[in-house]
Amino acid sequence: MSLMYIISRIQDGHIDPNPKWGVPEEEVVSNRTKLMSSRGLKNFVRMRAVHGNEVHVITGGNRAQWENKLMGGPVGDALVTKLLNIGLECDPGDCAMYIFFHGPSGTVGLAHSGREGSIRKVAVKTVEVMASYNGCSLEQYVGDVRIIQAPAICAEHYRMDYLDVPRDDVEDWRPHLQGAFDVESTDKENYVRLRGRDGPMGIDFVGYNASQLCKIGIKKEHLQLSSVCTYESEDYPSHHKAEVEGAKNGRFMVMAWMSDN
Ligand SMILES: [Zn+2]
Repeated sequence: MSLMYIISRIQDGHIDPNPKWGVPEEEVVSNRTKLMSSRGLKNFVRMRAVHGNEVHVITGGNRAQWENKLMGGPVGDALVTKLLNIGLECDPGDCAMYIFFHGPSGTVGLAHSGREGSIRKVAVKTVEVMASYNGCSLEQYVGDVRIIQAPAICAEHYRMDYLDVPRDDVEDWRPHLQGAFDVESTDKENYVRLRGRDGPMGIDFVGYNASQLCKIGIKKEHLQLSSVCTYESEDYPSHHKAEVEGAKNGRFMVMAWMSDN
């Protein structure tokens, strides 16, 4: 059993069926089929991400309701499965995607973590669900989890006036925010608002996720981070670049699965 994955590029064509890109569905299906069949994969579950932290476990009992549905996949921000030859998919355009693989238990996972998912620690939660689904404690399990991060937007290009985070996490966020900030109150219980003192601050949610994953025991050498910024790269669509420049490049595919060969 081995981990397989696809991280598509602009050159692979549109892979997102959302009609807002103005691309015929046949073309999208053809591009997707080409990417998957070149790796011998036929089946997928395509997650509809909502910037939360819900994790779905795909099993023999529930796969049929979501399998191979372009628009009818599970709503949530992470998928986990022990099934072979079924691609776990989410198609980002700046948010970080994390692929998780635990060889000894034969478990694969995928998490979508932009700003909000990072605040809600969806990547950490995915590892916790993988461990508990295998009847393991996090301590027993985490040492063998390998993680691959797909390209995401960097802090230099991802700037916000403020960030609302749980009060208890302020010190963990501090090294990953570029520029000084003030801590203000919010209406949301147990949250505070970190407001850039000198205007918008750069938000390194990728760095924050890496530190949170290492904090639960993921080994540094098992965490493969991407150095590619989607905003800067010519190879990946960027949601933010599309807003700034009006480019309609869509999304790119991140799909992970376990193969039995
Ligand atoms: Zn950048």
